Amino acid sequence: MADSVLTIDLDALTANWRALAAKTPKAECGATVKADAYGLGIARVAPALWAVGCRTFFVAHLDEGIALRAILPEATIHVFNGRRSGTDTEFVLHRLRPVLNTLEDLDAWAALARTREEVLPATLHVDTGMSRLGLDRREAARLIDAPDIARAAHVTTVMSHLARAEDAGDPMNAAQLARFEAVRAVLPGVAGSLANTGGVLLGPAYQQDLMRPGIGLYGGEPFVAAEPVVTLGARILQVREIDAGETVGYGATWTAARPSRIATVACGYADGYIRAAGNRAHGRLAGVDVPMVGRVSMDLITFDVTDVPAQTAHPGALIEMFGPGVRIDRAADAAGTIAYEFLTRLGDRFERIYSGGHGGTGDARP
Ligand SMILES: *Cc1c(COP(=O)(O)O)cnc(C)c1O
Repeated sequence: MADSVLTIDLDALTANWRALAAKTPKAECGATVKADAYGLGIARVAPALWAVGCRTFFVAHLDEGIALRAILPEATIHVFNGRRSGTDTEFVLHRLRPVLNTLEDLDAWAALARTREEVLPATLHVDTGMSRLGLDRREAARLIDAPDIARAAHVTTVMSHLARAEDAGDPMNAAQLARFEAVRAVLPGVAGSLANTGGVLLGPAYQQDLMRPGIGLYGGEPFVAAEPVVTLGARILQVREIDAGETVGYGATWTAARPSRIATVACGYADGYIRAAGNRAHGRLAGVDVPMVGRVSMDLITFDVTDVPAQTAHPGALIEMFGPGVRIDRAADAAGTIAYEFLTRLGDRFERIYSGGHGGTGDARP
């Protein structure tokens, strides 16, 4: 009975995965599905990707890995945030690969493997410029002096993360690649993984052995050739005529310069639609761009539909907030943010319709 509708095109998702995978025959293409597949629903996204041949998945949290294991019993699953003392047995039990982020992690994982007398594959993260997670510069230097510590911990993949991959001309990319290669040189036989979506598009040197795109799968830039995957249609609840000089919304921030028709839709910042987009974004209705006027309210947004025929802009119709007619990156620009934030904030008050991807249509929400 939800008012507004979020449509997720699983065929577009898998087409985007195939297009990124086809950039190179040399590297495996995985998929980053952290944060519930960027808000799209991992329970539908992961099986759709699996069905077209994706075998390796990346999540951020251990809990996300455990949930994904229940969905895909055979997949290889890497957990970016890695282990803490106390979580190791969960990784083993669910056959998840922790991303080891410190030398201490390497020692602890090696000790666990020794105790259990098992080979427990793990991924090593070496920081090359993000200064967030992974071995820092000093730790990386120690690893280069004594690479056996990675072998003892059954490191099968070494990864790093690019800070400016979406800007192909930025010299930081090459600098990070050089640091990454210095580590790889002492770890023969260990697979390399450096590329997020931007990295995949930087070419062969960055694609390495295993790619881990996220946003490009979901239709976001820098993969400008991506097919749009997510469409948000906000239901018109009411349409009114206002006179020139009348104002719209909290703070009376928009004043009609002419007699205007205002459509109010069922979507607001409580649905994750970012408030900063008020008076800046536009929607699309019947092939016409309709400006968002006034502030974004908690549950409501207002559009100037004066230029759309009244028989089209009527209660019950859907205004496209983003999708094929309004690229999500442009909607995000209007809010001063990025598509990643828009997607991961989408709330649960929408009807969710999944199309394609073998699963047919239907609402995956309980
Ligand atoms: C989120 C993330 C990715 C995916 O990045 P995109 O820019 O969405 O392609 C890859 N690697 C790491 C470490 C990440 O945190």
